[in-house]
Amino acid sequence: MGAFAVDAAHHCYVDFAAVGTRGPQYGAQALLHECSHLLADHATLAQDLGVGPTTSQIWNVAADAAINDDLRDGGCEMFNDDNPHGLVLPALLGEPDYLTPHHYFASLMARLGGLSGGSRSAVGRDDAPWAGCGSGSGGTAAPCELDDTDDLGGAASAATGTERERVRVTVATAIRDAAKIRGSVPGSREARGGRPPRRGSRPGVTGRLRARLVGVCRDRPLDQPSSLPGAGHVAARL
Ligand SMILES: [Zn+2]
Repeated sequence: MGAFAVDAAHHCYVDFAAVGTRGPQYGAQALLHECSHLLADHATLAQDLGVGPTTSQIWNVAADAAINDDLRDGGCEMFNDDNPHGLVLPALLGEPDYLTPHHYFASLMARLGGLSGGSRSAVGRDDAPWAGCGSGSGGTAAPCELDDTDDLGGAASAATGTERERVRVTVATAIRDAAKIRGSVPGSREARGGRPPRRGSRPGVTGRLRARLVGVCRDRPLDQPSSLPGAGHVAARL
């Protein structure tokens, strides 16, 4: 699997062999990222938006961008703009920070010119390696995810809707309380005083974004018709 994934039932899947070599800081920050997908209920947002098999990995990238700018502002070093891991930040998409996953998704879809024909088949390729954050992000389900009827003999029951909502309300309340202390919630909307996010120009598609969308763009490059490196799925890595 490569690292972490979450599903909409709030199961968290860990590839210990992969994560164990990256140290506790990586593990902690990556878990914050995965929890952010669940707290923002990105799976439901994607469903409401009509995200399907052909667009789920693009949505995953958009949701990642919406998360990672706040984590960077909160001091998570692995999400710095010059991060060596090439993690998704809005700048990689040519977009300003602090916008919604809906905005980043629409931006990506517009730049892809919609998905049809070869692009659609490229996204849905069965032989492409899985990448992403799991169905809990609204992205493609990780191969290891439990199906709805499997709770590992009661050891991994799915969170109920009430439990999921309770977690979100509890965390939101804690963030609101922390925001009352100046500077304690960097990157949050509270910290920006409710001001609308800055709008920036949209630069060209960078090589790193191309690498992230290589599977989607194999048959339909973004706004530059040059060839793309390698082949495979969208590499929505955190
Ligand atoms: Zn993610």
